[in-house]
Parts: sequence; structure tokens; C-alpha cells
Amino acid sequence: MVIGLGRFGGSLARELAAHGSQVLAIDSRPALVQRYADELTHTAVADSTDETALRRLGVPDYRRAVVAIGSDLEAGILTTSLLADFAVPHIWAKATSRRHGRILERVGAHHVVLPEHDMGERVAHLVTGRMLDYIEFEDDYAMVKTLAPAEAVGVPLGRSRLRTHHGITVVAIKRPGQDFTYATADTVVEKGDIVIVAGRTTQVETFADLT
Ligand code: ADP
Repeated sequence: MVIGLGRFGGSLARELAAHGSQVLAIDSRPALVQRYADELTHTAVADSTDETALRRLGVPDYRRAVVAIGSDLEAGILTTSLLADFAVPHIWAKATSRRHGRILERVGAHHVVLPEHDMGERVAHLVTGRMLDYIEFEDDYAMVKTLAPAEAVGVPLGRSRLRTHHGITVVAIKRPGQDFTYATADTVVEKGDIVIVAGRTTQVETFADLT
């Protein structure tokens, strides 16, 4: 179930439906709901702060819900707490700030996402270096997609010094025009290949800055 069909909730609901999930999408704006009616399994125009309306839609029976209401703090918080009252087992909520996220957790969200904040941080890493993509996990660990630097080229990965010198592991490799494939100790990276490497955040960033 996705509540709120703004930019975030709308693309989330679309992606879930595209991957075969049965999605109930709720928004208080009829025109918006109409726009998604053909693509999603179930859509409904309702005020998600109205407990009776949610019960009528069968919301208490859903196992997973995403509250994608960012700009109207009150509505997002009330909706999340209603879902918690219904004991929906997996409640995700979108927050616009860390403080907002803390409140959503207090009222019952099990997972809080901060899309604008996280994307801002990610783009900061991309614009300052040569990385083509960047994902940071917890505990200072990251994966980056980057053009293979000269040091990685021409030697089987098993014999290269990438792990000992740079602390990174080449996870996958892509030749121009081909698909990504996993890297093995025998893989020889060629000039022009794109690689995905994993390691400590500072180490993968340093590696991606090599030419
Ligand atoms: P985004 O930044 O992703 O576009 P918004 O916070 O602007 O997200 O969008 C939130 C959506 O949630 C809007 O489409 C709005 O109509 C909907 N919404 C807000 N309050 C309620 C509510 N009480 N019940 C149902 N939908 C709501």
C-alpha cells in the first residue's frame, strides 16, 4: 500500500506494480488518483487521516505500507500512527528531515527514508569525482561504478595489488557494449572497461580518482 501519490509515492507505486506487486494507492486528490488508476491494481481517493475511510479500504489487513506524504507533516504523522494502531507489520515513511524522521519513528514507522537528503549526499560524491555511480552502506562501506584506472588494467585481478594497495575489491566488470559480469581472480580488466568496486568509503573514492 502506498499512501500519497506525489513524485516519490507515485514513482514508488509504479515501480512496485511494474515488478508484479499488488498495490493499493491512496491519495486525497482525485485527479492524481485518476492518473494512476490504469497502472496500479487498486486506487482510492481518501483522506488517510480518516480512520473509518482506511478501515473501509481494508487497510488494517495490509502487511506493508509506505507513507509517502512529505510536505504535510501533520497528515504524514497522523497516517503513520493510524497504521501503527492497525498493527501493520511493515510501515515505511518518507521524511523531509531527520527531525521529521524521528517523529515518524516515534509514532510507529519501522523504516524512515529521506530521499532528498540521501540523494543530495550521493550526488555530492558524484559531482566531485570521476565516479559513474555511488552507493554508501552503513559503517563506512561503499560500492562505486567507475572507469577502470590504468593500474587495474592488464593483470589478472588475483595477481593485481588492488586489494593490498587500495583496500578495494573488484566485484563486477563491464566491457563496452556488453553486460556486467562478476569478476574472478582470472579476470583481466581492459582499458575502457567499467568496474564496480567495493571497500571502505575513502578507499573506493581514492580508487575512483585514479586515472
Ligand atoms: P513529493 O515531494 O514526493 O511530491 P508530497 O509530500 O508533495 O510528496 O506529496 C504528498 C502526496 O500526499 C500528495 O499527492 C497529497 O495529495 C497526498 N496527501 C497529503 N495529505 C494526504 C491525506 N491526508 N490523505 C491522502 N493523501 C494525502
